[in-house]
Amino acid sequence: MNLHEYQGKDLLKQFGVPVQEGIVATTVEEAVEAWKSIREKTGTDVVVVKAQIHAGGRGKGGGVKLAKNLDELKEHAGNILGMMLKTPQTPGGLNGPGKLVRKILIAEDSYRPDFDACKEYYVSILTDREKKCNVIIYSTEGGMEIEKVAEETPHLVHKEYVDPELGLQAFQTRKVAFNLGLSGQAFKNMTKFVAALYKAFTTSDATLFEINPCLKTPDDRIVAVDCKVSLDDNALFRHKDLEEWRDTDEEDPIEVEAKKYDLNYVKLDGNVGCMVNGAGLAMATMDIIKLSGGEPANFLDVGGTADAARVEQAFRIILKDPAVKAILINIFGGIVRCDRVAQGVVDAYKNLGGVNVPIIVRLQGTNADLAKKIIDESGLKVYSATLLQEAADLVKKVLQEEVNA
Ligand code: GDP
Ligand code: MN
Repeated sequence: MNLHEYQGKDLLKQFGVPVQEGIVATTVEEAVEAWKSIREKTGTDVVVVKAQIHAGGRGKGGGVKLAKNLDELKEHAGNILGMMLKTPQTPGGLNGPGKLVRKILIAEDSYRPDFDACKEYYVSILTDREKKCNVIIYSTEGGMEIEKVAEETPHLVHKEYVDPELGLQAFQTRKVAFNLGLSGQAFKNMTKFVAALYKAFTTSDATLFEINPCLKTPDDRIVAVDCKVSLDDNALFRHKDLEEWRDTDEEDPIEVEAKKYDLNYVKLDGNVGCMVNGAGLAMATMDIIKLSGGEPANFLDVGGTADAARVEQAFRIILKDPAVKAILINIFGGIVRCDRVAQGVVDAYKNLGGVNVPIIVRLQGTNADLAKKIIDESGLKVYSATLLQEAADLVKKVLQEEVNA
C-alpha cells in the first residue's frame, strides 16, 4: 500500500523525523485557510503547492509550484486541483492520460531564506532480499532523477546495509553523514535524521521510504521535503491506523473490487484473463500463457476453497477488464470438486449474459471427468482441456481466431 506524501510526512513526524510542514486541502478555500495558518507560523507569504497523487516526478509535470503570495496561491491551487497530472510515473507516462489530482498539500517553503545556500540530498531505505538486510541508499545528488545518477555516476550513490537483527548502529549513521560531506551541526542532524527514519521504517513495516530531496537548510537543519512511502500489505493488520489511510481513488478499481471479495487479483497488461486456485498454479499458468504467445491480463488466485459462487465473482472481475480477449480457467480439484466449479462456470456464463470472450477450462482432480462432461454439454463457447499444454494451445488458437475475425 502506498501513502500520499502528506500521509508519509505525518508518519515520519510521529518518529521525530523533521519534515517540510504542510496542510492538505481539497478546495481553493481550504488552500487559503492552510496558507493563512502557515503564514502565521513562518511569517512569510511564500508556500509551495504540491499535487497529491501516488506518483513521483510531479515537479516536472507541473504538479509542484511555488506561490509567492495569496494571489499566486489561489492561481496554483485552482490550476492543480482537478488537473490530469502527467509525470514519467503516471500510467502511460507523459503521453498517457495522467492522474486526476483530488488533493493538494500547501507546504512551507523549506528553501527560505536563501535558496542557494540549500543542498538537496537523496536518502532511501528498502530491503535487499538477496543480502537479507535493510539498506540505506543515499547520495549527494538529490532532487533530480536518482535513476540517472545511478546509471551515469554510480560512485555517487552509496549503500549502507543494516542487519535487521542488530538494527542500525550509531557508527553507520555517522558514516552516512560523513559520506554526504557534512560537518558540524548538519552532520549531527543528519545522524539523528537517519536514525529516526530507520526507526520509522522498521516500526511501520514499510517496504520503501524514499526521501528526495532530503534538504540541508541554510541554518543546517535536515528536512524531508518529499517522501514516498510504501507499506507491506501483509503486515497492515498490525497497523490499523495506517490502513485507514488507504486511498482507493489511487488504486486500480478492479483490484479494489477484488479485495472486497477476498480474491487475490493483480491487474497486468495482457489480454488473457486467468482464473486459478493457488498462487503456484497461477504462476505456472501465466508462464504457459506467455510460452504459447499470449500475455496474461491478470494474476488471480481464487483460493483453495473456490466454490461456484466465488468462481462467478472471479469471472465478473476478470470480465471488467476490456483488454481481456480470452479467459483461461485452470483449477485443481482437491478439496473443491471439479464438477462444482464447472457448474459455477456454466452458471456464471449464463447469468452474466452476452459474454463473448472464449473460455478455456482446464479442471484436474476430483470429479474432473464429470466436469468435462458438464462443460462439453453446456453448448456454450467454452473449450475444455485436460493437459496444461492443451489449454495453452487452445488459448493460442482462440487468440488467433480473434485476430482473423
Ligand atoms: P516530485 O517532483 O514528485 O519528486 O516532488 P518534490 O516534492 O520532490 O518536489 C519537486 C521539486 O520541487 C523539488 O526537487 C524541489 O526542487 C522543489 N521544491 C519542493 N519543495 C520546495 C520548497 O519548499 N521550496 C522550493 N523553492 N522548492 C521546492
Ligand atoms: Mn521528489
